[in-house]
Amino acid sequence: MSGEAKQHRRTIRAPRGPERSCRGWIQEAALRMLHNNLDPEVAERPEDLVVYGGTGKAARSWEAFDVIARELRDLADDETLLIQSGKAVGRFRTHPDAPRVLLANSNLVGRWATWEEFRRLEGLGLIMYGQMTAGSWIYIGSQGIVQGTYETFVAARKAHEARVPSREGRWLLTAGLGGMGGAQPLAATMAGMACLGIEIDPTRIEKRLRTRYIDERIDDLDRALAAVEESARSGKPRSIAMCANAADVFPELVRRGITPDLVTEQTAAHDPLIGYIPPGLSLDEAAALRARDPQEYVARAKQGMRIEVEAMLEMKARGAEVFDYGNNIRTCAQEAGCERAFDIHGFVPAYIRDLFCQGKGPFRWVALSGDPEDIRATDQAVLEAMPHDTDLHRWIEKAQQHIAFQGLPSRICWLGYGDRARVGLAFNELVRTGKVKAPIVIGRDHLDCGSVASPFRETEAMKDGSDAIADWALLNALVNTAAGASWVSFHHGGGVGIGNSLHAGMVVVADGTEAAARRLERVLTSDPGMGIIRHADAGYETAIQVAEDKGVHVPHRS
Ligand code: NAD
Repeated sequence: MSGEAKQHRRTIRAPRGPERSCRGWIQEAALRMLHNNLDPEVAERPEDLVVYGGTGKAARSWEAFDVIARELRDLADDETLLIQSGKAVGRFRTHPDAPRVLLANSNLVGRWATWEEFRRLEGLGLIMYGQMTAGSWIYIGSQGIVQGTYETFVAARKAHEARVPSREGRWLLTAGLGGMGGAQPLAATMAGMACLGIEIDPTRIEKRLRTRYIDERIDDLDRALAAVEESARSGKPRSIAMCANAADVFPELVRRGITPDLVTEQTAAHDPLIGYIPPGLSLDEAAALRARDPQEYVARAKQGMRIEVEAMLEMKARGAEVFDYGNNIRTCAQEAGCERAFDIHGFVPAYIRDLFCQGKGPFRWVALSGDPEDIRATDQAVLEAMPHDTDLHRWIEKAQQHIAFQGLPSRICWLGYGDRARVGLAFNELVRTGKVKAPIVIGRDHLDCGSVASPFRETEAMKDGSDAIADWALLNALVNTAAGASWVSFHHGGGVGIGNSLHAGMVVVADGTEAAARRLERVLTSDPGMGIIRHADAGYETAIQVAEDKGVHVPHRS
């Protein structure tokens, strides 16, 4: 815990209910979502303002947090607050349809976009790592990633089934059970598989047990393997967490000749100084080395990643479906000498890109009332708006059964172009007619179809080689601003670390008014539309076809 953290042991929790302390519901929504990001049920290390993803923060310091909250309470309906790396820096008169908040987090000019420079500036108190939804105030706990993880695991399982059809039950090996990674065991069991998750920090395992994301902790490898194999064989999916270092367990499985069906990992490898514990060190020893000799720490962390990735490569050679799950571990392993690290494919080109071509991506919403019944009402509205989508119906049912809310009640599902606007308008009607008790916040991850440039993840191996072109992410932020999103953010380094990605986020509030309906229709059309035009421009047939079918204007193709 940092020195500042010790002074700030207060518990942050979003206000609830139909009364607001801000001058408008959009400002109130931003205030509640900022608080919600730091709710101890939601955030990984709230005392340090860290929400998830290594060091992804909601505000630069506690002083900055207090000033943002004060500014939001005072913000008029025709003003826009500017946030620079987690600190309020200005406020201008704009107009009621403009975003109430614009946020820029962690951005650096290309040549200076390194962790070293970032940390130097962070040390001076000038910049903050915003990850994706931490600095843009729309994190909803591990649920935020469950459906994406579920979709990914189902696609990976099908790929394995196509190659190895004879096997009965299947199991997944993974590592890292933090803010995002903690969703993996639940997504695996929802996808009908057993799961063994290796996590070095026992407090993270406890949190996942508490929130029902994991079924059981077994630290003895023989017993853990027996439990997983029994679960796979009996067809009763169970998830087992084992407290150990992945760089020890993965190669040990190779030595024993044990090959899982699916293999991935989600330690916070994108940040080798903070996010990966080198093998041979306890958590306390790692913290001491990090403070004493950061260079040595990074070298040892990358060596650990090399060992782990080499084991993954061997499992791939033995028939496992192995994939990188978006944390840049391949780059770090390669830097440490694993030349074939990129023989492991990334999850986006392998399983997700086709959805992006259809403008599909994560769509999340939060009930500002704090009442879980309001999420029930929105679930029902989604099912009624999408009567023929059986996968979606199954997902909502599973989510209702298995997902415990963290902080303000929320939901996520993947929706495409046209459907997002339809559902957004349905939510606005629920608010207008009093069927929910307060407005609904609608947002998404930056990991979406048309909002990211990330050559090791969302834009890996693009058909036209445009992986590193970030114009698309900027255009996404600009068009959402023009369309009237409630807050819009532009970040650097999310998911895969500083120097490796640029991405945009948006949130739009359904407050039941006609003005909100117009904004929702515009934003929830142009935002997924960006995914279609981005992929049509890159030459993907599906995107070109979807643009044609749905009337998305692509100038060079009309
Ligand atoms: P986090 O910091 O909350 O959790 C990382 C976890 O890894 C921690 O619990 C840590 O104890 C554990 N860990 C570190 N080294 C380990 C080791 N050697 N062995 C076993 N466990 C170890 O991060 P998070 O929010 O869970 O994110 C994980 C990664 O996924 C990050 O790199 C993030 O950028 C990336 N990410 C991916 C997606 C996606 O859709 N694929 C989305 C968001 C984030």
